[in-house]
Amino acid sequence: MTEIPEDHPRHDSLVARHRIEEGVEKGLTSKQGLIAQGRGEAFDYLLGERTTESADEAERVAAASLLRARHPVLSINGNVAALCPDETIELAEAVGADLEVNLFNRTEERVRAIADHLREHGASEVKGLTADARIPGLSHERAKVDADGIYDADVVLVPLEDGDRAEALGAMGKTEIVIDLNPLSRSAQVATVPIVDEILRAVPNVTRHARELRESGADLEAVIAGFDREATLEDAERAIRSG
Ligand code: ATP
Repeated sequence: MTEIPEDHPRHDSLVARHRIEEGVEKGLTSKQGLIAQGRGEAFDYLLGERTTESADEAERVAAASLLRARHPVLSINGNVAALCPDETIELAEAVGADLEVNLFNRTEERVRAIADHLREHGASEVKGLTADARIPGLSHERAKVDADGIYDADVVLVPLEDGDRAEALGAMGKTEIVIDLNPLSRSAQVATVPIVDEILRAVPNVTRHARELRESGADLEAVIAGFDREATLEDAERAIRSG
């Protein structure tokens, strides 16, 4: 990877771009993923490339929801695999979640490449290859999930998800945690817990909160019950509009 000086003012965004570019070259990320990253960057620029207070609170609630879940699953697409494989595996370990490859533009080759990539980064088990269940209300390829993975999950983390599938998962009655820098996207709008933050900042912060909540023996129900999703989305939109 090209060396990017630590003190470059756009260091983090350049690192993210290089990772996505590499993801495409390795066959992990689709070309559409480049466009999605660009869209996300624009919103992050307007947010000031920082984790807002309301995003931090949503990340704490996400951690509580994952810890309290019967069966939590983290959904991995090509952008997530390219941007933050280590951080996502660490979160799965911290909250006892499964990892499942779940792609909008699904090809068996890309599912396998992402699963191999996650294993190379230390994941012990990766779901998504069996694809023996379907999310109701979606067309064939986009509906595929594992029966003992996302299909069975009660809490799913879906970073950078397409709006349609986010909606269909929500309709299955799952607690849906979405990471998306656009508070107006359908995914963020339908999420139980919308996190409006950059994925590379969001995922490690959810892990940190999970560890703190566990160590302090916090009342997870109370943390979850106190969350106001509408206020979180409004706050993010205000931050973007007002700068
Ligand atoms: P909708 O949810 O309204 O249907 P979409 O599915 O068309 O939107 P995409 O263009 O597929 O949206 O992009 C996925 C979303 O992921 C965008 O809303 C974008 O802001 C967000 N996104 C992209 N990169 C990142 C990132 N690194 N961190 C957080 N969010 C990101």
